[in-house]
Amino acid sequence: MPGKWVDFKTIKEKISMEMVLVHYGLLNSLKQTPQGFKGPCPVHRGKHPNQFHVDTKKNRWNCFGGCDMEKFEGHVIGFVAAMEGVDLREAALMIAEWYGLSTERPAQSKSGGSRRAAPAPSPAPSPAVTADAPGPAPAAREVMATPAADAPEEPENKELTFQLKNLSPDHPFFKDRGITPEAVKLFGLGFCSRGLMKDRIVFPIHRYDGKLIGYLGRTVNEITDENPKWLLPPGLIKPKVLFNFHRVAGVADLVIIVEGPLDLVAVHQAGFPNVVALLGKELIEDASLSYDQLRLIARNFSKAVLLLDGDEDGQEAARRIAGRQAAFLWVRALTLPEGKDPSDLEPGALRQFLSF
Ligand SMILES: [Zn+2]
Repeated sequence: MPGKWVDFKTIKEKISMEMVLVHYGLLNSLKQTPQGFKGPCPVHRGKHPNQFHVDTKKNRWNCFGGCDMEKFEGHVIGFVAAMEGVDLREAALMIAEWYGLSTERPAQSKSGGSRRAAPAPSPAPSPAVTADAPGPAPAAREVMATPAADAPEEPENKELTFQLKNLSPDHPFFKDRGITPEAVKLFGLGFCSRGLMKDRIVFPIHRYDGKLIGYLGRTVNEITDENPKWLLPPGLIKPKVLFNFHRVAGVADLVIIVEGPLDLVAVHQAGFPNVVALLGKELIEDASLSYDQLRLIARNFSKAVLLLDGDEDGQEAARRIAGRQAAFLWVRALTLPEGKDPSDLEPGALRQFLSF
């Protein structure tokens, strides 16, 4: 695969051993340990039950049997290289393809690009792969940080330099939708009468660390092609957003996951404050869960309840997400009545629904 480009560091940060074990269907053959997993080695197909170890915090693996750990280096790329019988670069490209990571070489900056982003040009055709500097295993990260928190080359949503002023907290939309003044205040909602979000109810969006990164706008007027139901702030990196996460992380063990902000408010008002929204299919194309969102959830909660819309898309998304999450935490997907969103249900009905 000449010409393709892949950054080892990004892969090691974004792709966990669990994800790759799930890819190979290996998780069930392993036993949980305080560090991660152990079991027979899938690489050299050993039978010994304790030879293969995975440390999920360090995102490393080791084989105490027949594997050449010097060659495979004990990281996630080395694991795939070992499983596939390919070299590290080829393994990295395979991982990038499986998980939708870019294999485009980033544009070089004026200074010629960073050492990692742009390998030194060479007259001979050389594999376009970044250096994989040997070093100590990466330390365990802060519980709440995303993998990208300290990786400047990874784009992250930027803190907003302004706040919308003069938002009206008593637009009839709130009453019509059963949104209480308390919820309006808590979530900082309001009707915006000017600018990009004119004639919209705005929902402030925060980064995982609580920094304001933008506003979502829900129109109060007729929905047309020119006037979409929802308006996203320009430039928002949607896969990085988990609406309301910053209020919930570290507070609870269980998190309820819904598609949209209105669902979130409904669930919150029904007495379940530990709820986050994916900014689902009405806002983005589908209600899928990005790996950044999965990381945030898996690192901060041990249980998740999926409460996606009661339509086919929502239920399909729930199955997909539950399957992906199940490797990381306890997951339960609840099925709403056909055609219903959480925001369609009365608080009492929602409470009954969520009393499992
Ligand atoms: Zn082995």
